[in-house]
Amino acid sequence: MMYQNFFKKELGRLRNEGRYRIFLNLERCANEFPHAISGNSKQEVTVWCSNDYLGMGQHPEILKAMIKTLKRCGSGSGGTRNISGNTYTHVTLEETLSDFHQKEASLVFTSGYVANETTLATLGSCLPECVFLSDEKNHASIIHGIRNSRAQKKIFRHNDVAHLTELLESIPSHQPKIIVFESVYSMDGDLSPMKEICALAKQYNALTYLDEVHSAGLYGPQGGGIAQALGLENDIDIIQGTLGKAFGLIGGYIAGTKELIDFIRSFAPGFIFTTSLPPAIVVGAVVSINHLKNNAQLREQHQFNARYLKKRLEKYRLPYLQNQSHIVPLIVGNAQKCKEITDRLLHQFKIYVQPINYPTVAMGTERLRLTPSALHTPQMINHLVQALAEIWDDLSLPKAA
Ligand code: PLP
Repeated sequence: MMYQNFFKKELGRLRNEGRYRIFLNLERCANEFPHAISGNSKQEVTVWCSNDYLGMGQHPEILKAMIKTLKRCGSGSGGTRNISGNTYTHVTLEETLSDFHQKEASLVFTSGYVANETTLATLGSCLPECVFLSDEKNHASIIHGIRNSRAQKKIFRHNDVAHLTELLESIPSHQPKIIVFESVYSMDGDLSPMKEICALAKQYNALTYLDEVHSAGLYGPQGGGIAQALGLENDIDIIQGTLGKAFGLIGGYIAGTKELIDFIRSFAPGFIFTTSLPPAIVVGAVVSINHLKNNAQLREQHQFNARYLKKRLEKYRLPYLQNQSHIVPLIVGNAQKCKEITDRLLHQFKIYVQPINYPTVAMGTERLRLTPSALHTPQMINHLVQALAEIWDDLSLPKAA
């Protein structure tokens, strides 16, 4: 086997298909979000594809608490939670998350990906005869968790409650079932029919597992997510989230009953066998969650900006996917064109958007995933839309009907 030739050939294939990924080197500038410095040109750019939705990554209260903790506790945690990496800051964060989601207990992981992967893999491999019912558009971390569990799985068509019902009907009543879905789907920005799914879960005695990665901190009167906004927190057995998006840090978590959380703590390899998050990160997360819990202003500004951006796109008939969330997917439908648009946005207009290609989205639905934050100004939104309108005309791209 000529290993290097194989790698080269596969990369060449990606290049030919226009979906070879080039990451822009950025330097984020605290106090200047959503501006950043582009590492290659050293020019200032406006970032339009960050998941730091509320700009909490530069919040002064968080930075202050983190610096203080860093000086007091040092850099790393020193080990796994099992072996000296369990600090009282981790325990405080878990208590904060339980309160935030109105659940008995919580467990923190090193990322949202790990939280999904290891929780689902553990549940599926330990619960006898477990069957997963998973939405077809669930995130890769969910897909891998279910796959790694080796449990039986049934995939329901995206947000299709009738199909889910049909699949539930087909499973013998004695078998444990887990319905796995997201509240806001990250690429289309659409919401799941949570109320209907919860009702079905009750009817068929299934557990509900909800990924609130793109909604925790952003929706609900206290930021608890879409389940909180809809008054359905009690109907969800396991809420999963990230500390890396609305909260502006890194890490992941689940929240649920005391028994379930203790079970995952005791059996999940992705929790047991890896170094825990550094105390400074953990303290930053506590401050971020408490701030967002008690302060709806950023959430309101975020929603306002998303509505304003959509309105401006409509004015120029730029074809964005309609949804009820803050994620604004602008459909291009071609990987090469996507790259051409984002190159022009960057070089001509100092706007940074990363093209989204297969396998993140299906071929033919390549897109720009625009994420207006609470910190984008009306001027920035107007500048983005005018740039897009000009490029759309230049490249004769299809417009919305
Ligand atoms: N779940 C969804 C729906 C996501 O979009 C992501 C990341 O983008 C994750 C989970 C993983 O979260 P994290 O980035 O904290 O690993």
